[in-house]
Amino acid sequence: QKTSPAQAEFYQAVEEVLDSLQPILETSEKYKRHAIIERMVEPERQIMFRVPWVDDQGNVQVNKGYRIEFNSALGPYKGGLRFHPSVNAGIIKFLGFEQIFKNALTGLPIGGGKGGANFDPKGKSDGEIMRFCQSFINELYRHIGPTTDVPAGDIGVGAREIGYMFGQYKRLTGNYDGVFTGKSLLWGGSLVRKEATGYGCVYFAQYMLADQGDTLAGKQCLVSGAGNVAIYTIEKLYQLGARPVTCSDSSGTLYHEAGINLQTLKELKEVRKVRLNEYLSAHPDARFIPVTDYPADGHAVWRIPAQLAFPCATQNELTEADAEALVANGVIAVSEGANMPSTQEAVEVFLDARICYGPGKAANAGGVATSQLEMAQNASMQRWSFEEVDEKLKVIMKNIYLSASTTAAEFGEPHNLVLGANIAGFRRVADAMIEQGVV
Ligand code: NDP
Repeated sequence: QKTSPAQAEFYQAVEEVLDSLQPILETSEKYKRHAIIERMVEPERQIMFRVPWVDDQGNVQVNKGYRIEFNSALGPYKGGLRFHPSVNAGIIKFLGFEQIFKNALTGLPIGGGKGGANFDPKGKSDGEIMRFCQSFINELYRHIGPTTDVPAGDIGVGAREIGYMFGQYKRLTGNYDGVFTGKSLLWGGSLVRKEATGYGCVYFAQYMLADQGDTLAGKQCLVSGAGNVAIYTIEKLYQLGARPVTCSDSSGTLYHEAGINLQTLKELKEVRKVRLNEYLSAHPDARFIPVTDYPADGHAVWRIPAQLAFPCATQNELTEADAEALVANGVIAVSEGANMPSTQEAVEVFLDARICYGPGKAANAGGVATSQLEMAQNASMQRWSFEEVDEKLKVIMKNIYLSASTTAAEFGEPHNLVLGANIAGFRRVADAMIEQGVV
């Protein structure tokens, strides 16, 4: 029952999952008897706290911090931290809820959680970022640990922020342990973790296409976002012979018909951390579409003709009208690097059109899966090679695809990977919850 309209994204995520669980809930009485749904939609624990810090002018600033420990049936809570001004309890709850099923789908021993703060890292100095991260951990440290809750990065949180948070955690606890993933390669990070979500999302598209007797080679691709997931989606697309022609940030969309220049993109976003329109000074043949010129009913990036689409920025960035435009322009597959980037109406358009559609909780699970590989390396004091981790990532993505597609087929809708992913993830968590009793 909806009692808090303020949590729109959370209700959207729950509705999508409950819709696709109908076939299993109707036939399997045990889930009802054990009140699995009622228990699953309620987080095990929600931590909300103030994060006071001092800016460069000496003024005290205050932000809201969150960690939602949603479900630990399969393992320690695992999920990223998001620092973005739009963060609120509803967004963290939606992300945490999705994380339960995503983590279950990987087949690895990880529960679901998510956290973050309504802090805007844009325009902040390095010292301000550090002071914010330290203050955030001054509260969070008491709730996390290598076998209890292991946060990672998300929007606005990369290796730099993880470093400052880990440093403060270590200072407060005296423990040098694997309490975060996405760490620097100098001190406990895993090779491939930075690339994993983007690479995994492309591997997922590759497996969907292979089932149709097709490949990525020569395909024109749309990518949204210009952050961690988008950059490594673009990198892997090039490696597999495709041509990514777009990327975007919150200021607008870049369209480069010759193909996005990856080196320039990395320089702008990973090194200089500037707006995307600066790309034009190096590549005047590209086009920049500012958000003010976007269509009223959607996003400019999805109106460009292409065969494949990879939404890699944020939730609800692909509307029903966008989905219709993609299908009308002949898109054959959509693989989601972001969490819930397509609205529910957009998802319906993809499913009705019978194109290949990889929902985020399956297609972007490579990031969290590789985080678990980082935990395994930390716990065993080992370091695996790039090739070894990448090979494991490919196998995990293949298994996720097979698990979603065989479950979809089992329930009579072989093309519906939303249904397949939700039911496959649900069954694993729900059965574990039943075996662990009423807790
Ligand atoms: P980053 O912060 O590295 O990049 C986010 C990108 O999306 C930036 O280009 C940003 O533009 C853009 N963006 C963010 N919010 C908005 C918005 N409201 N409107 C328009 N553009 C926006 O984050 P990630 O690449 O790590 O994350 C992207 C997505 O992938 C998120 O949905 C995240 O939850 C999901 N994800 C990430 C994983 C990971 O391993 N990092 C794992 C699984 C999912 P700008 O800089 O201008 O704000």
